[in-house]
Amino acid sequence: MSLPEAKLYATEEDVQKAWLEWSKYRTCFRCQKSFNWLDSYGSHECRQHLGGVSYKMCINVDGFKRRDYRYWNCCKKKPFTAIRNINDTIWSQFRQTRPIIHTFPTADEIPGCVPCDHSEASHILDDGIRLNMSAESPYYSFAPLGGHTVNDEVIYLGETRIVEQVYYDKSVDLADVDQGRIPADKLIWPDVKWKLKKGNYVNWNFKNTPIPIKILKRTIVEPYGKQKVKIDFEIKNIGMAVHDIAAMIPHMSGNPEERPGWQFDKVDGKVMFPYIKNTARRAPYNI
Ligand SMILES: [Zn+2]
Ligand SMILES: [Zn+2]
Repeated sequence: MSLPEAKLYATEEDVQKAWLEWSKYRTCFRCQKSFNWLDSYGSHECRQHLGGVSYKMCINVDGFKRRDYRYWNCCKKKPFTAIRNINDTIWSQFRQTRPIIHTFPTADEIPGCVPCDHSEASHILDDGIRLNMSAESPYYSFAPLGGHTVNDEVIYLGETRIVEQVYYDKSVDLADVDQGRIPADKLIWPDVKWKLKKGNYVNWNFKNTPIPIKILKRTIVEPYGKQKVKIDFEIKNIGMAVHDIAAMIPHMSGNPEERPGWQFDKVDGKVMFPYIKNTARRAPYNI
């Protein structure tokens, strides 16, 4: 479901329409509780797991590492409180049911590890954290926050070039390159791996979209002496922009600005990314 927006200067009619949707009672897909968006948006009253179920590393009794399968990636817990396979060997001794047609009562799911909003949809709400990303990649690129500007130096196809013109989607024309508009993700920011410092805000150009991010961690890896940089970062514009729901704020119960999803980044006292997120950050970035 997509939320209807009500911008700051929305008409009475638009606000009315959005208010109807936002005030409707719904049933949460995850916890089955009822909720409405006016009361719960950005308040993280539910919990979810991030990512899928795979394995965790364990040490055997003889001291060897091995993979132990069927654990949540996020919190390394088993998805269910019971191990179905072991139960099944017992059940199968005396069952009078037909498998598949008569399913066994399932064990309780382990509650989610990351607080998030209630939702009617079954998808995982993105916390915007991306882990262990390479500083240089053929699939994306980084640029200063807001993108490259005219007269900036960039590297394109191995050559240093000067930006001559910037378009709204951050694609550029380069001096001495006789070509159409060049998408931002094809441009390399000179010395990019040293510019991606912890705490910096930069642009991440991915699939022709410039996305503002904050660097959370930088790791230097040295395969065969060639230094490579890996970073953890957080996407800053995930969620709903405040101006898109501004007209709904007077109707929201409690003090909406005290909801956990409403913590905006400030730089020099100025609010930079006024978005409301409907999930908390994962560990270890959940502060
Ligand atoms: Zn989890
Ligand atoms: Zn819920």
